[in-house]
Formats: sequence, structure tokens, C-alpha cells
Amino acid sequence: AKRKGRNTYCFFNDEMGSAVSRRLRIENGLRYALKNNELYLCYQPQVESKTGRIKGLEALIRWKSPELGMVPAGEFIPIAEETGIIVEIGKWVLENVCKQNKIWLTNGYNFDSISINISSIQLKQADFLDTVREILDTSGVEPQKIEIEITETAFMESLEENINKLKGLKDMGVKISLDDFGTGYSSLNYLRRLPISTLKIDKSFIDNICDSSSDRDITYGIIQLANKINLNVVAEGVEGKEQVDILKNMNCDIIQGYYFSKPIGSNEVEEVLKRGY
Ligand code: C2E
Ligand code: CA
Ligand code: CA
Ligand code: CA
Repeated sequence: AKRKGRNTYCFFNDEMGSAVSRRLRIENGLRYALKNNELYLCYQPQVESKTGRIKGLEALIRWKSPELGMVPAGEFIPIAEETGIIVEIGKWVLENVCKQNKIWLTNGYNFDSISINISSIQLKQADFLDTVREILDTSGVEPQKIEIEITETAFMESLEENINKLKGLKDMGVKISLDDFGTGYSSLNYLRRLPISTLKIDKSFIDNICDSSSDRDITYGIIQLANKINLNVVAEGVEGKEQVDILKNMNCDIIQGYYFSKPIGSNEVEEVLKRGY
């Protein structure tokens, strides 16, 4: 007769089982992703609204797993953070963006900077500043050509310590941008204490600026605030012409989103940098 005790996992329904195993497969897959060259970078243009010039590019990581296919960054980054492997991945991103940046500048492509997303886990590392400095030195890229994107929720947990780290970055010459602005719990009063140069208005506000007068008011409020205190302001996730027109009228400096371009590979970036918008 068959023994019963083995099937204890039958508490789980199929859906739970497959969610668990996908998570585990991502977790395992990530351990080899770097070594096996499964990660690569795409870049999304940030366009100056007045001139159509490409002001900058945001580097966004991509993972093509042999087992799982394309895994969205929004799915694997949180798992990489929980397991700590984000520290290694983050270094890889920094190194590769710096290398690419140097190549483009050497070849005469012009842009202000390339933005890199930094996880709070990475920021928390005691050697974070040393790592950044070393990678900048090795690549020979000017610090001004790099911008670090950090979410407000990311640094709120240990505010004083993180402010000091951001100041360290600024002292090196690296620019800092506050990502997903408007979605955190933080108050406005720390804004003047942060050594940032750019606010990125979260896509969730931009999504509804055509239809919702309150989202339009909030967006306009953020733009005016940014202009007033001399910060650059980027509207994220802009998909339509009507949104672009509204944002231009509001004096929003920089527009990023599918309207101009999805994140694209480095070859395509070169075409776009030659051409502009
Ligand atoms: P994020 O930093 O807020 O990046 C913006 C996300 O919105 C990107 O998704 C981008 O592809 C997408 N997006 C841009 N324009 C539009 C648009 O017009 N419409 C729509 N629907 N989406 C748009 P992605 O690349 O999947 O990245 C998701 C998140 O994963 C990022 O959000 C960021 O938090 C994280 N991430 C991506 N790359 C890295 C990285 O190299 N390091 C770290 N630590 N996190 C990263
Ligand atoms: Ca970002
Ligand atoms: Ca964002
Ligand atoms: Ca985000």
C-alpha cells in the first residue's frame, strides 16, 4: 500500500505551488545570471521638452533567463534585493553604464548624463561610496556624466546616514535624482536637505493628467516647486501627445516615456542620439 505521509504539500493549491516555484526559480536563476551573461542593459531617452534634444538616458536592466525567458525587472529586482544579490548586480550595472558612457562620449555622442537606479540595499553597504569612486576611476568617466536615481522610500529608513551618503556622491560630482516622486510617505521639508538635482514625477500622476484635474494640479504643483527651488523635473511614463502638450505648457523640462521611446538597446541609442527628436 502507498504511504500517505509524503503528500503534505497538498495543503497548497496549484496556484500557490506555481507561484512558489517561480519565485524559487527566479532566486536560483539569478545566482547564475551574472556569470552566464544573461543580464543586459537598455536605455530610455529623457527628452528636453522645449528643444527635443536628448538630455539623458536612464539605464534599465533586462534579464533573459534560459529557463524562464524574459523576466520583468519589477519582478526580479525585489527578489534580488531580498537575497542580497542586488549588491553584485548593482555593481555590474554601474560598471557597464560607466563603460558604455565612456564609449559614447569618446565617439562624440552628446548627452548630459546617464541615470542609474540604485537599490536601498546597495546604498546601505558600508563600502558603497568607495565602490562608486573606484568604478568611476577605472572607467575614466567624468562623475558629472552619471546620475544616481533613488526612490524617496529607499532612503527614508535611515535618513541621516543616507543623506551623508548622498552628500558623498555629490562631493564626487555625481548627480542625484529622486525617483517615483510623490509616492512615498515623506514630507516636503527634507527636500531642501537633500543634495539632489532632479525630481522625477511618478507615472501614476502622469497617467491621469488629461482626465483628472487633481492629478493635473498635483503635477503642476510639483513642477512649480521644482522650478522654484532650481531642480530639474522629469515627467515619467509619458505615452501620449496630449500629455506632452499639457506638460510643455506647465514648463516641465524633461519628458521620458513611450511617447518618445521605449527602453532601447545600445545600437538603437546611437541612432537616436544622432537624430534627436
Ligand atoms: P523605475 O526606475 O521607476 O523605471 C521606470 C519603469 O517604467 C521602467 O520599467 C520603464 O521601462 C517603464 N516605462 C518607461 N516609460 C514608460 C511608459 O511610457 N509607459 C509604461 N507603461 N512604462 C514605462 P522597467 O524597466 O521594467 O523597470 C521597473 C523597475 O525596476 C524600475 O522602475 C526600477 O525600480 C527597477 N529597475 C530597473 N533597472 C534597474 C537597475 O539597473 N537597478 C535597480 N536597482 N533597479 C532597477
Ligand atoms: Ca528610475
Ligand atoms: Ca520611476
Ligand atoms: Ca518605480
